[in-house]
Amino acid sequence: MKKALVCGAGGFIGGHLVKKLKREGYWVRGVDIKEHEFAPSAADTFEVLDLREEENCRRALTVDGGPFDEVYQLAADMGGMGFIHSAECEIMHNSALINIHMVHNASAMQVPRYFFSSSVCVYRDMQPGEPEMTEAEAIPAHPDNEYGWEKLYAERMALAYERNRGMQVRIARFQNCYGPEGTWTGGREKAPAAMCRKVAAAPEGGTVEVWGDGTAIRSYTYVDDMVDGIFMLMHSDLHGAVNIGCPQYVSVKELVDTVAEVAGKTVKVKYVEGPVGVQSRNFSNERIYSIGWKPRVYLEDGIARTYPWVAEQVQRAQAGS
Ligand code: NAD
Repeated sequence: MKKALVCGAGGFIGGHLVKKLKREGYWVRGVDIKEHEFAPSAADTFEVLDLREEENCRRALTVDGGPFDEVYQLAADMGGMGFIHSAECEIMHNSALINIHMVHNASAMQVPRYFFSSSVCVYRDMQPGEPEMTEAEAIPAHPDNEYGWEKLYAERMALAYERNRGMQVRIARFQNCYGPEGTWTGGREKAPAAMCRKVAAAPEGGTVEVWGDGTAIRSYTYVDDMVDGIFMLMHSDLHGAVNIGCPQYVSVKELVDTVAEVAGKTVKVKYVEGPVGVQSRNFSNERIYSIGWKPRVYLEDGIARTYPWVAEQVQRAQAGS
């Protein structure tokens, strides 16, 4: 039985990735600084460890009959635009420390295959309709935020370990990912979960506040598609960074409309000032397509799977349970 370590297993994508690895027949250890908030972990063993500490990284990586066959590094101090623009020092300090210690110790402990979760936040701001950028065009670099710079640094560090220490490294640049069992309130939530929460909390005919003017363009990848992409990439020969995203570009206004339609509610939208991030990011998915991955869940379908879960959390919170 193959053994996998998932760092960030108490988080959104990490939690879903653990389930995927279990379905694929792996023995899985999950590690995170906290337990999963929304579902018991599907991992065979789960350890609460602060991976900013090097000793804890070694502890996470130590396993009977080791080393781990595969390590998936998804732990990061992370959140939506509100968090990214207010917690620059935390991101640059905490996520960098996790990545520095994890990749170094995984390589020192002879892990053969290492996955790193990067982000399309490494790309510069773009205008809607600009030609799609390939992975290589992230350089010369001009990310819009410190989160993107940290990811670029961590990518380059992981690639240095691949070149010089012989560990196979796979890197995905995730697009905005959404689905059930992700952060939906508290300041770290991302746009799809935030919109679902606002619409669920609004009365019929009520008003929801949305940051910006609704014209920013994004694309969103459903979490099941994302973890399939991670698994396929990890077992492929694709070196270097690889974008994983659904090629459906939608404006923030279209996202709100989709959520309201799925909810069966009429809501008014009030655009307010807030951290919006880039106007658009258009990037190519050709590399991940080349290994046979395609998204299966498009926005309306994905929101139909996500909204009921967020609405249930909102109801519970309102009921005080
Ligand atoms: P998440 O916040 O739900 O998961 C990250 C997990 O890392 C959290 O559970 C958190 O507790 C854990 N963590 C933070 N600091 C830690 C520490 N010191 N030690 C151990 N664990 C720690 O976020 P997610 O959406 O599941 O994202 C997973 C990865 O994917 C992250 O690296 C993120 O940057 C990347 N990513 C996510 C998206 C997205 O849209 N969700 C997009 C691009 C990239």
